[in-house]
Amino acid sequence: MTDIEKQFESDVKDSIELTDNKVINLGEVVDEEGVTPEYPLEMGIVDENGTLHNTYTLREINGKDEEAISKNDVKNNIGKVLNTLLSRCCLSIGTLTKKDLGLFKWNNLIKSLSVGDQDIMFLKLRKISLGSEMETTHECPSCGATLTTLYDTDELEIVPFNGKREIPFELPRGYKDAKGEVHKLGVIRYANGLDREILAPLLAKNVGKARTSLLKRTCTFNSGIPITEDIMSSLSLKDRDYLQKLSQDNLFGVNMEIEVSCTDCGEDFKGKLNPVNFL
Ligand SMILES: [Zn+2]
Repeated sequence: MTDIEKQFESDVKDSIELTDNKVINLGEVVDEEGVTPEYPLEMGIVDENGTLHNTYTLREINGKDEEAISKNDVKNNIGKVLNTLLSRCCLSIGTLTKKDLGLFKWNNLIKSLSVGDQDIMFLKLRKISLGSEMETTHECPSCGATLTTLYDTDELEIVPFNGKREIPFELPRGYKDAKGEVHKLGVIRYANGLDREILAPLLAKNVGKARTSLLKRTCTFNSGIPITEDIMSSLSLKDRDYLQKLSQDNLFGVNMEIEVSCTDCGEDFKGKLNPVNFL
């Protein structure tokens, strides 16, 4: 049995104990087993029967999880780190449990969660495992001073989901196919954990290619033409910027910006957080 399988067995045991003993204590962050009560997700996932699952439970991070995310093929990819940790430490999504789904389907379920929901879960995982006080460093954009900011993860804003699971778009220019037909209308879905994992290495190498790949993965034209990377890279910059802005305007989840005040020059600016900061 591999470590992952062993952990899986023990997580399944945890989740059985959770349902059998009803050790849910709503007043506490975790119970004596290190398991949380059910917390809400913003978007959740809809299963094949059309049922919405929009809650989750977690257990605390342990040493085996730390080992799992320290592996060479995981640690340099933020998407893999998050998918690995959540797959191990999340015990249920709505009525779906690891025990019922099995490891393969469970991993895929975790990867299919929107990035917004994953960030919410990860913030909570950080809190129950390491506490809510955090420290981060930023460089002042005005004078270049390195600033260390202390903050509480409970103070981070959660941007609510607007209820639209897909966002309709109308491209300013559109894609003109070989027959001269112009395709402008379609929908874009939210990026999920799998997208983040696939895009992470691309982002480090070529931001333009990463953007093309994300658009190819998340966009669908109403005309039904199959979307290729070639089509998405041939779109005008105007269309690509429009799609990016549309996604950004509809983002939900943890607002990864905090207010920072420079102690050297007094400049106030917004400091970006990365989920990696939560570890
Ligand atoms: Zn400054």
